[in-house]
Amino acid sequence: MQFEFATATRILFGEGSVRQVAPAAKEMGSRALLVTGISGEHRAGPLRKELAAAGLLEILWIAPGEPTIDLVREGAAQARDFHCDMVIAFGGGSALDTAKAIAALLTNGGDPLDYVEVIGKGKPLAAPAAPFIAIPTTAGTGSEVTRNAVLGSPERGVKVSLRSPHMLPRLAVVDPELTYDLPRNVTASTGLDALTQLVEPYVSIRRNPITDAFCVDGIRRAAGALRRACEQPHDTAARREMALASLLSGLALANAGLGAVHGFAAPIGGMFEAPHGAVCAALLPHATHVNIQALHSRASDSDHLRRYETVARLLTGNPHADAEDAVGWLADTCAALNIPRLRTYGIESDHIPDLVVKATKASSMKSNPIVLTEAELHEIIERAL
Ligand SMILES: [Zn+2]
Repeated sequence: MQFEFATATRILFGEGSVRQVAPAAKEMGSRALLVTGISGEHRAGPLRKELAAAGLLEILWIAPGEPTIDLVREGAAQARDFHCDMVIAFGGGSALDTAKAIAALLTNGGDPLDYVEVIGKGKPLAAPAAPFIAIPTTAGTGSEVTRNAVLGSPERGVKVSLRSPHMLPRLAVVDPELTYDLPRNVTASTGLDALTQLVEPYVSIRRNPITDAFCVDGIRRAAGALRRACEQPHDTAARREMALASLLSGLALANAGLGAVHGFAAPIGGMFEAPHGAVCAALLPHATHVNIQALHSRASDSDHLRRYETVARLLTGNPHADAEDAVGWLADTCAALNIPRLRTYGIESDHIPDLVVKATKASSMKSNPIVLTEAELHEIIERAL
């Protein structure tokens, strides 16, 4: 057995932990680019005051929408113009990924296309990224502890990763209080993304004993808290559980990879305006069903079926559940939380062949528990439409 486990240098978790950001940032630099989303400008107010009080110069930069190559190029230019020596992200996965890529470009120079996979030159980053603090305000990304940023290229209709061990955040601050005011639909879709990011690494061909432990614990927590966090937004215990499940999902996916859901989420996110979490949520029951079916037909004695059985038992709380019971639980949960079908984003049957070709090449697909046939990949999308 051989594996590697890498994560953020330091992780702070807990209610109120965001107040530890300013003193920690002071140790890392003196001029920070603070990256947030459109809704983050107001919410970042208290943090900005604390940064100023700690004597840090801070420049606020709003990253509207999902991260793209162009947006990162623009943000890196801003950071250079203001002579920033560190980057802080306060927001959802989009703000975190954008800021993480900016921190990498700040010290390495050049253009995002020099470094991204698939559509770029894929050059390795030579230098460590500028010190980067990641503060998620949703419970679903896990990006605060991962070493990649997923960037869209709207003109090419794809999403690609900028990836390097040099991109692991210096500090991840996971404060459940920041998620108390999230709207129900965002809580639902980001929460189901976190759950996907726990199920996929657990059945991944790259899994290891450390990620296994995180996945089992995270799946149990998310299964117990997801609906409560959606239905009673101020249930602080449920919010804490989801924040923790999300963090565990990041730790797992960064070290064990993902699977078919994320394999499809990459091209769908590149071709359509659809939030990542909602796309993953819509795909999860169907990818789980098709994976289990494929394992039954071609690898019935594999350990992966037993793993899906464990997932089913963790989700349902029933110690006698079968692998397929996971599919029923996931479908019921998506229905109860009003997860839109993929058709909502303009995806139609005609798009399936193109999506299947692109998904086959996606890096996440390589760790799926079984190599799916073209017909099986087709079936996943067809069922999720
Ligand atoms: Zn995801």
